[in-house]
Amino acid sequence: MRLHFLISSARHCAAALRKEGFTVEYIKAATTIDGLKELQSQHGDLPIFSAEPSSFTQSKALSEFGVEFAPNDLFLTPRDLFMQWALKQKTFVMENFYRAQRIRLGVLVDGKDPVGGEWNFDKENRLPPPKNYTWPQYLEFAPDEIDLEVAAELGMEPPTQWATSREGALRALENFIDNHFAEFGPYEDAMPSDNWALHHSLLSPYINNGLLHPAEVVKAALAKFATGSIPIASCEGFIRQVIGWREYVNGMYWFLGDGYRENNQLGATRPLLPLFTDPNKTSMNCVKSIVSDVKERAWVHHIPRLMVLSNLALITGSNPQEFLDWMREQFVDASGWVMVPNVIGMGIHADGGQMMTKPYAAGGAYISRMSTYCKGCAYNPKLRVGDNACPFTTLYWDFLDRHREEFVKNHRMSQQVFGLNRLSDLGQLKERASQVLEGLDRGEI
Ligand code: SF4
Repeated sequence: MRLHFLISSARHCAAALRKEGFTVEYIKAATTIDGLKELQSQHGDLPIFSAEPSSFTQSKALSEFGVEFAPNDLFLTPRDLFMQWALKQKTFVMENFYRAQRIRLGVLVDGKDPVGGEWNFDKENRLPPPKNYTWPQYLEFAPDEIDLEVAAELGMEPPTQWATSREGALRALENFIDNHFAEFGPYEDAMPSDNWALHHSLLSPYINNGLLHPAEVVKAALAKFATGSIPIASCEGFIRQVIGWREYVNGMYWFLGDGYRENNQLGATRPLLPLFTDPNKTSMNCVKSIVSDVKERAWVHHIPRLMVLSNLALITGSNPQEFLDWMREQFVDASGWVMVPNVIGMGIHADGGQMMTKPYAAGGAYISRMSTYCKGCAYNPKLRVGDNACPFTTLYWDFLDRHREEFVKNHRMSQQVFGLNRLSDLGQLKERASQVLEGLDRGEI
């Protein structure tokens, strides 16, 4: 799915440029460098220019080949501007960056004050899945000739979930603004099993591969907000994703440097669990459903990514780089700059807290509150010991116990660590945790 999206978008882009009168040579090669060598063999040693690539690996390979870079304009924050901000910070709190960004870009501000009186409406945007709610349909994109050709080359059915052209991406933007934006906020963290997209915009693949520019997305959102039909909590929540999180994660990727992806500060060595490649290797309803969704559409929203998939990798002590590679290969909107900080820093705390001051570890209670998965599950989110204890609940406590020494010194974690002292069944829990870990390794939990 991801490959189809990327290849088909590139071919649509080449076709659109040809239509505008440009000469385009589209090369298929094993790597970008192989493609450039082929071009050189045909055209001689011409100068080569490219927009700054989106990963250290590609930047290094291209600059060693002699490619010259122009600033990458797929973001609203130039890299040196982010660097200036980061160098002045003691801790890299996204909220501080985001507020400065609102003022700098003049978005949802009245001078230096936030429109609506608050910078952040997260509290209103954390509702669990609603009951008896009809979710609007999401767009499907009928495959055109290019899509069909790419699907045939990849040996797959032509997908319909993702647009692969500028026109399709604009249609997706319009659909979000008209049919989902107003309700985006309240359910943005919810995980209902009867709907995969909720009111999420589904625009990240297009913004990340250049089919849409973040500035036009922000402009469309602010124009709709100006009509008075969009609650501030939905508008602010969406704007935060685009001018806050997205820009912050990209800035942090370049600020933290190439070596950052190799971090493994919690010493996590477990090989990638088999359930990540085959969702039938688990009876955990949340994980099975979410991994199946990822396989089907190459996308789930930020909470399943963070609080289910990454949380599981974190509390099972899975190797950070193996999990990072899996995430990078699966998601339609993935790139080096997106996944490295999101996984190594935010998802699995492998950087020892350089980016986020506490790990996002959670037991079954969080997933139970925010989803409908637990009702159909073989396990019980309230139980931490016994054969039908929820693996998240058991492993959450086991994780805290395994890292007690590190976390007790962290003022944002110490209360959770002290909670361990209230567990009268810690011995039993540790035994169950090792059974669960062994079972997960075998694909039998
Ligand atoms: Fe997931 Fe645990 Fe709920 Fe099952 S009980 S769906 S494993 S959180």
